[in-house]
Amino acid sequence: MRAQEVQAEKARGDQVRGRPATVNRGTTADRILALQSEAGNAAVTQAVQRALDSTSGTEDVSAAHTAGTGGVSAGHASGGHAIQRAVWTFNGSTRTQHVMGQNSGVWFDENGQSRTTAELQIDSTSLQHGDKYDDVTRQLHSSGAVAVSKRGTIPDHKYPQRETRTRKAVVEAQQKMATALALLNAAGGAPGGALLQALRSAFPLFQTATPQQIGELLPRISEVLRRVQAGLNSQGAQIALVGEASILDPSARSANASGAAGWVDSSTKDVAARLRPGYMKSEELPSMDSGRTGPINLREEGEVAWYVIHEATHRFAGTLDYQYSSYDHELAEDAAQAGLATVLDPATAAAQDAAMLGRRAVRDPSTYTGQNETQRPKRQENWYAMGRRALMNADSYAHFVMTATGSPIPRS
Ligand SMILES: [Zn+2]
Repeated sequence: MRAQEVQAEKARGDQVRGRPATVNRGTTADRILALQSEAGNAAVTQAVQRALDSTSGTEDVSAAHTAGTGGVSAGHASGGHAIQRAVWTFNGSTRTQHVMGQNSGVWFDENGQSRTTAELQIDSTSLQHGDKYDDVTRQLHSSGAVAVSKRGTIPDHKYPQRETRTRKAVVEAQQKMATALALLNAAGGAPGGALLQALRSAFPLFQTATPQQIGELLPRISEVLRRVQAGLNSQGAQIALVGEASILDPSARSANASGAAGWVDSSTKDVAARLRPGYMKSEELPSMDSGRTGPINLREEGEVAWYVIHEATHRFAGTLDYQYSSYDHELAEDAAQAGLATVLDPATAAAQDAAMLGRRAVRDPSTYTGQNETQRPKRQENWYAMGRRALMNADSYAHFVMTATGSPIPRS
């Protein structure tokens, strides 16, 4: 039975792991600026500056930031409000339908200040509770285009929470993908600092590449993220929340049995490709296709930004599961190692540390086993042996977006 479950998981599921909890890290602008100061990447500041220049005119982000004004600066919008670098969150219960079909309603920032949809000049007919609007980039991060439905039975008292949590995860995924894309664009083909660390962690082939070699492959990573962003923003995007599965739904039954976090049904092209023996063993740069069709299916464990990104790359960019990340394992190992270092003699601690980091070194891509491994040590070894396959690996994109936007990066 266990073997069957593992097969089911390989076939269509994504193994559940603990994922970085959503940490409230302040406004997107503050995050970008924090990343910028860590990364020492003046281009990020310039990008934010350009965005501001094109909208509100007179703000000086870097000056406000270095002056330690805590993210508040003194410019004035045309409406006369003092500009704060705020992220506004839509409260769906305040919605009233506008005569023109546009949504009215109230948005709140982290300090409890409020603005109406009209005051923020947000033009959308499909706002959802929990949508976010970023003052600096003027980007709306919305789950409004995503139709959320049930697959199987979910009790009425549980369904609204699951939909709310899922929509929140979609908005967080959108917000983080937008930040990651801005950082990639600002890197100008030669990433450095924290962005480079996130890239090397998520796409291990970059460990031994120069920033210029990495730069040549960045357009591809940006393209996958743009497709996912556009897909989640387009009408027709669907997420099905998986409940107790009917006997007529074998996909959902096997996902429930294996504990998968989510899945997207394979396209006929995927199925055909899988008939070719060793197709995942190829080291050719995988082609990008238009993705799969149908809904992104999420079990409760999958209702977080990491899995929304992971599944959305299957759905909208045709990624595969070459290998799941060992992210959680490595973070736990880092914490344990830091604890041990205080009690072990220095020589032993240093030897253990070297062994741990040695397991995280990039490996020869010809040693990749040809399938997503579920058990260590193969699972971890395979991650580092993906080579260029990582550029079409679903979990690499989730790993990259989360770590590029502030989730901790395992040591390397
Ligand atoms: Zn997957």
